[in-house]
Amino acid sequence: MIVVHELAHLKEKEHNKAFYSLCKHIEPQYHQLEFDVRLYLTYMDISKRI
Ligand SMILES: [Zn+2]
Repeated sequence: MIVVHELAHLKEKEHNKAFYSLCKHIEPQYHQLEFDVRLYLTYMDISKRI
């Protein structure tokens, strides 16, 4: 997901609608992957506080 994100940044500098449609073009599962990464980062953040 991070690779797709960075690749999309080569064409679109901002996180706009064109950026996300480009992400989806490269990786149709992009939104699911981004959700998974966010979930993982949230989990890491929580586990640091325990
Ligand atoms: Zn970005």
